[in-house]
Parts: sequence; structure tokens; C-alpha cells
Amino acid sequence: MTVNAATQLAPIEKIAEERYVAPAKPSLVGLSRAQLADALGEIGVPEKARKMRVQQLWNWLYLRGAKTFAEMTSVSKDLRAALDQRFTLARPEVVAEQVSVDGTRKWLLRLPSENPGERPHEVECVYIPDTVRATLCVSSQVGCTLNCSFCHTGTQRLVRNLTAGEIVGQVMVARDRLGDWPEGVRPTDGVLPQGDRLVTNIVMMGMGEPLYNFDNVRDALHIVTDGEGLGISKRRVTLSTSGVVPMIERAGAEIGVLLAVSLHAVRDELRDVLVPLNRKYDIAQVLEACRNYPGASNARRITFEYVMLKGVNDSIDDAKALVRLLKGIPAKINLIPFNPWPGTKYECSDWDQIEKFSEVVFNAGYASPVRTPRGRDILAACGQLKSATEKLTARERMALRAMAMQDED
Ligand code: SAH
Ligand code: SF4
Repeated sequence: MTVNAATQLAPIEKIAEERYVAPAKPSLVGLSRAQLADALGEIGVPEKARKMRVQQLWNWLYLRGAKTFAEMTSVSKDLRAALDQRFTLARPEVVAEQVSVDGTRKWLLRLPSENPGERPHEVECVYIPDTVRATLCVSSQVGCTLNCSFCHTGTQRLVRNLTAGEIVGQVMVARDRLGDWPEGVRPTDGVLPQGDRLVTNIVMMGMGEPLYNFDNVRDALHIVTDGEGLGISKRRVTLSTSGVVPMIERAGAEIGVLLAVSLHAVRDELRDVLVPLNRKYDIAQVLEACRNYPGASNARRITFEYVMLKGVNDSIDDAKALVRLLKGIPAKINLIPFNPWPGTKYECSDWDQIEKFSEVVFNAGYASPVRTPRGRDILAACGQLKSATEKLTARERMALRAMAMQDED
């Protein structure tokens, strides 16, 4: 298939439908310590007592996974009652859960609709366990601001940024469902990783462009990586971007997690079509931002994602150009078999071609550029999320694995 750049240029971005209206009784999940202190101020807790109360709430929420104020026994009864009147500890509501025999779980989450009569928004969150680790694939937006031509999420009309609470809430939901709290009961269906922790890694690779929702993603990831709470190390959190250049440096400086960049093409003419944002920030600018990414090193490489599209970007020349392009950048390459969706004009590269492409990349020193599927019955995928009832093909499983495991050394 050939792609004619001149005739297929989609608009770069959509206007976000910013319709979020905070519920009358908001959840404390996802509030920073300062915001929690303000919340306590609202219900009359004197200033000098707030710091200690914040610490108590933080522990109950993020170390013990409290779902009700009633169980917060170290907090006075009066304060619990006052909190209960004004706030909740709600996380997004799980409306469907699918568990595969290999332990992969997909949760369809419903967010409250803001306007009467409006259909509630839904996002998905996927849990992918391995033997010693388990990765949670988290969404940052309902839909996506951008219009990548090979991405199903990109075709969705509706866009709304998730709040920090809705992003942290995905991690809370996962740990709730896995019984991954001190007194939690672990599920007996499906495989879980060995070790104490059931969610060891986070990838911001679900729906949405995280750098178009910078503040909320940053605030959420601060909570997710907070050593006195959810405590997932920054080295185990990867943020994937399609190349929002002005925000890449800020992501490094203000969030400090690992970076993945959706490159997908080695020529601007093609990347303009696949990732229309390229018309704003071209390949050279994206790579320059990567070179300057704070904290990138051989130990903390930037992952370059490259979706394998038959006859579009999968030639051996492309592979060679990819290797040349990334010279000098501490990089990993992650080849993702394209996951087709109804109506797409693209096809996944043939397996032979993926292997040839991957050999070029491998010979240039990039370990395991493409991963083979391990699971048998996975019902979930990141970045290419499908309706809760659809099962995935072997090809799709491979794409899922490749993306979820991209931060593996
Ligand atoms: N918006 C961010 C993160 C979410 S998408 C980004 O674009 O990086 C996560 C990854 O899935 C990206 O590399 C994206 O290009 C890839 N992806 C999207 N749709 C896909 C599909 N149908 N098949 C394979 N990979 C896909
Ligand atoms: Fe958005 Fe990423 Fe899909 Fe592009 S690939 S439309 S940035 S979710």
C-alpha cells in the first residue's frame, strides 16, 4: 500500500470538549497534600492540625487503600463524619472486567457524566502480569486530542482530559480488584506475578496523549510515585508521547519518569500522515527534544515506538534509516505489530518482514526490538483499546505485549 501524503492529511488536533464539572461531593483520590489540606480547611480543621491529618488521610488512602471514611480508625469519629458529609473516596466505577487465563485483566471504567442526559464517559485500563512484574496501562484522556491515522483512539470524536483523580483512580481500581492492599484478598483466577507487589510498573499508553493533559498527568504521577504512598519508582513509570515537543523537557524536569516516543516513520513526509502532529513538530525537533530529555542515559533509555505497517514504513531501508536517525541517543526500539481495527486502511506488516526489519535493528545493537506473544487468551490491548467484549487475535496480543513490555531491559 502506498500513502499519498498530499491527499490524506488529517487535521493535527481536535478541540477538547472541556466539559468537566467537578461533582458536588468530590473524591479525595488524586488530591495533592496541599489540596488535601485545603479540603480539610473547608470542613473546619484548624490550620495547625492539617499537616498531621493530611498524613493520616494519605496513609489510609495510598498505603492501606481505604474505600470508606468509616475504616479510618485513627481519625476521630467527628472528623470522619465531617469528611463523609462533604467528600468521597470514590474511584472510577468498574463496569466490566475481563480476565484472561494468562492473568491479563482489562477493566472498562465509567466516569460520571458531567451534564444531565449525557452518556457517561468510558476509558479502559489494562493489567499485564509477568512472572516477576506487572504493568498497568493507564489512560490520560477520554479519546485523544490527536488524530494519528493508524490509531483507533485517534478516530474518536470526544475528547476530555482525565482529572488527576481519574488517573490515580485507575491505579487504585487495579489494586482494589487485585486485593493489592495490606488486608486485601488476592483473586484466585488468573496468574499473578511473584513477589509482594502486584502492580510494579505503569505505562501511560492507554487512551489519550498524556502531554496534552500535562498538569493532571504530572500531579497524578507524583502521587503514583510518592514514596510514602503508592510508591512506584519513577524508573518503573513510562510516559508515551506522540511528540509534543514543548512539553517533553517539562515532562523530564517536572515528572522525571521514563520517556517513550511514538516515532513510527523516519521521513517527515510519511510521519506527517501517520502522526499529523509531525506537521507542528517534525522528526528533527522530536529527536532534539529527546537528546535534551533530562535524565536520559544508557541506564534510562528513551523508547522509540515504531508500529509496523505493511508497505508503508516497514522496508529494510526504513530500518537502516531508523538506526541512523537514533545514533547518539540512548535509545531502545520497540517494534509494534499494527493492531487493525474496523475501517482502517492499514495492514500489519507480514511476520517475515517484521523479522527482517528487527534483524537490522538488532544488529545495530538494540536488544529484543520486537517481542513475541506469550499469552494465549488475552482480552486487552493498550493504545488501541477495543470494546470490552471483543477478543484479540494473535497479532493483537503481540502488539499488546510489545507495548506493555517496552520498559523491560
Ligand atoms: N498518545 C500516546 C500514548 C498512547 S498510544 C502516544 O501516541 O504515544 C500508545 C502506543 O500505541 C503508541 O505508540 C501508539 O502509536 C500505539 N498505537 C496506537 N494505535 C495502534 C495500533 N492500532 N496498533 C499498534 N500500535 C498502536
Ligand atoms: Fe492519540 Fe497516541 Fe492514538 Fe496518536 S497514537 S491518536 S497520540 S492515542
